[in-house]
Amino acid sequence: MDTFYQILSPSQAPRLPSHYSHTSLVQIENCPRRWWLSHSEYHGWNGRYPEPVSPAAMLGSIVHATLERFSSDYARVISTGDEKAIQEFRKQFPLRATVHAERQTFLQRAKTNVRTDLVALEANVSVDACISLFKDLIRRNFGPAAIESLLTAARTSNGQRRTWLPSASLTQAESSAKVQVPCPALLPEIDLKIDAPPLRGTIDLAVTEPEGDTLVEYKTGEPKPEHEEQSLLYAFLWWTVTGRLARERQLIYASQETVKLGPVTHELVEQEARRATERVNRARNEIESPSPRVHLDSEGCRLCPVRQLCSPYWRARETEATRWTEASVRAADGDRESIKWRDLEIALQDVEQLPEGFIAHIGADQSRKRILCKLPARFRPASIRSYAIVRLLNVGLVPEGTDALRIVWSSLSEAFWGDTSSLDTLDPKL
Ligand code: SF4
Repeated sequence: MDTFYQILSPSQAPRLPSHYSHTSLVQIENCPRRWWLSHSEYHGWNGRYPEPVSPAAMLGSIVHATLERFSSDYARVISTGDEKAIQEFRKQFPLRATVHAERQTFLQRAKTNVRTDLVALEANVSVDACISLFKDLIRRNFGPAAIESLLTAARTSNGQRRTWLPSASLTQAESSAKVQVPCPALLPEIDLKIDAPPLRGTIDLAVTEPEGDTLVEYKTGEPKPEHEEQSLLYAFLWWTVTGRLARERQLIYASQETVKLGPVTHELVEQEARRATERVNRARNEIESPSPRVHLDSEGCRLCPVRQLCSPYWRARETEATRWTEASVRAADGDRESIKWRDLEIALQDVEQLPEGFIAHIGADQSRKRILCKLPARFRPASIRSYAIVRLLNVGLVPEGTDALRIVWSSLSEAFWGDTSSLDTLDPKL
């Protein structure tokens, strides 16, 4: 078993971000403890604490990377003003080869992640599935109705050619002077950074025009309210760095029509400036605290990649829906057609050790249930006796004989082993 599957306590608190991204602000706001545990350092573990990669997340990442390449190449072709090349572009874009190369890159990266089930990823993230999602996004958004019409209109404005500036990195000047950006231009993948408040962000595509700019974000997942927040934050960054107000902001989804959020005004970006400053100050206070707050709720904790390290999670009423509690174990009907996947903590003092796992008992007296646990080899420690508890993530329970249950595993299941200190529900210790 990899030592990573021990329940580790942080050896050093995380370093504070020099600049906060939209994602880090949202993560800290949702649960400061989660951010803190994910970014802390751990003895015996080099680098960032790994997060599991689900097939859906990898599919989204591959499609997003392919889309970045598509929009960057498209922008470059449009900047040439060559009508024929523009019309032919979609047909000639090497979609299968690009998806294949991106998939290889992401799978290669996943190999270095101890929490990845590579076989499941390879089986569930096919090139065809990525192409299908990509085509949905393109059909919806690069058709005559949306981006294409925007770009087509733009390339003929005043007969001027658009400048193409790939992957620019723009940092706010030290003086209050604004960074000059080309106009009219198509600017894919623009990194923006400002120091007051310390923020950074990457706009997927900025289309500059004398009448005002359009800022575009691509989203492969489902719409979330935080996407609109991100768009406003980016419009504020764009204004702070370049002095330009966005005339339009678009969220382009694979799963639904493009959301047009309209223009921003001076009042709106100034209001966002105050709000962003407050958010950064609040986030900094939260993660500087020796005891970052927990935000316990089933929805957020269910997907938390560090819940195995978060003792309050394993005791809280608020998270009972995501865990196998005594009551839900008793009520487990073991329906094999619709297995429920939940987390289960087992105290190991009284377990009966087996060559490939153990038998535990959960509950008291008459309601006591025997649970048979056969561990997949990668989660099997040299000796179960060395540990006081095991925390199983995303496991199911099915009937075993007439009076017992058996733990079943999926590609998202994991087992983390802890000594008695893991039972401690006090604040984080370093
Ligand atoms: S399990 Fe819940 S409370 Fe604990 S760190 Fe994760 S999100 Fe926060």
